[in-house]
Amino acid sequence: MRKTISIADFVVGGDTFAVMAGPCAVETKEQLFASADAVAAAGAALLRGGAFKPRTSPKSFQGLGTAGLELLSLASQRTGLPVVTEVLDPRDVAAVAEHAAVLQIGARNMQNFPLLREVGRQRLPVLLKRGPAATVEELLYAAQYVTNEGNGNVILCERGIRSFDPSTRYVLDLAIVPVLRERTDLPIVVDPSHGTGRSSLVRPMVLAAAAAGADGVIVEVHADPSKALCDGAQALLPTDFAQMMVDLRRLLPMLGRRLSRPSAAGHATPAQGTISDEFIAP
Ligand code: PEP
Ligand code: MN
Repeated sequence: MRKTISIADFVVGGDTFAVMAGPCAVETKEQLFASADAVAAAGAALLRGGAFKPRTSPKSFQGLGTAGLELLSLASQRTGLPVVTEVLDPRDVAAVAEHAAVLQIGARNMQNFPLLREVGRQRLPVLLKRGPAATVEELLYAAQYVTNEGNGNVILCERGIRSFDPSTRYVLDLAIVPVLRERTDLPIVVDPSHGTGRSSLVRPMVLAAAAAGADGVIVEVHADPSKALCDGAQALLPTDFAQMMVDLRRLLPMLGRRLSRPSAAGHATPAQGTISDEFIAP
């Protein structure tokens, strides 16, 4: 049995493939809209973008916070794409849930148990990223912290694990996709942007993730990566993202999948995720 999760008017899981895309961080209205318009035009299903950013150095840009959430809502109304955005602090969960369709738990917070419990009490799907040193067992236990609170709509995300070789930012563990498949019915997505840290590696790893059986990918896109306040080296240009989508559209039918897309562009209100206990036959 494989679980599908409804987000606004489309599903993650089953025979669809969901592309979540947008900037690493919300920086300005113009920057967000440029990225949002580009990913919507190329066929993304969700808009990503961080308003609350977990940064290694406290001196780095920390995100626009609540102002960034409001810009994400505007971008969602403009493009019709539901928003996936990170929540860092249990005290911000309610505010983030007002603007998001999917609540993202970042890799650094995979074992932040109070935060996991808090998103478990919400009625929105949760994108749970694997910690950079977390085992499969630990990832699945983290998911249970969410599901035990009543929110069964967890999407697992592989985003690279720490290793010895600095030639990529992390090591993207694609083998975890079929491994998780054997262990859980939850949808599985892959983040090749953080997983590789290099924009030139994103397209091949997106195609490899699809071939490995992932239910989707989450990818960073910036209209001017050289000026990005966060993760510019791994951001795709809009033209490269569009080419990636062309390649995916060619590959997916061979894998028995099709792109997941919201059916109607331009929601009057920010598109929201919903609880669904819809299961499909294996
Ligand atoms: C992100 O998605 O921008 C992010 C911070 O990811 P991760 O938690 O995987 O590092
Ligand atoms: Mn990032």
